[in-house]
Amino acid sequence: MQPEATELTPAENDIFDRPLLMTPGALNRWQRMKAAAATDGITIALVSAYRSIDYQCDLIREKLQAGKTIEEILRVNAIPGYSEHHTGRALDLHDGLGMPLTEAFAQGEAFQWLCDHAHQYDFSMTYPRDNAWGINYEPWHWCC
Ligand SMILES: [Zn+2]
Repeated sequence: MQPEATELTPAENDIFDRPLLMTPGALNRWQRMKAAAATDGITIALVSAYRSIDYQCDLIREKLQAGKTIEEILRVNAIPGYSEHHTGRALDLHDGLGMPLTEAFAQGEAFQWLCDHAHQYDFSMTYPRDNAWGINYEPWHWCC
């Protein structure tokens, strides 16, 4: 079970220009990490940050209505209440190249930079390949 964040602060807008929220601690770490990446010539942008339990329910409902099975959906979306995005500390990242939220992200320079440096800002990849939770590989999902 992932508790919903109790303290959230507005961060920048995501790549679709939607406003994002995260915890003040996550915002501080994200801003320092993004600035350090930029210094190294690496672009990292936000696709998603905090998501409420209600929002996660809507997401799954929409996919069910679109004809997907619950098994298919739960391989890529956590059960409401179990997404790390509820905590306000998990971020989905993109390098501006290609489609966001695809494994192609792992082929880019930004991903390599994150693997080398994200730990300095207390970020780690939650769902590496063949993870213990049976969640699909998510090279774009980093939590602090
Ligand atoms: Zn994520």
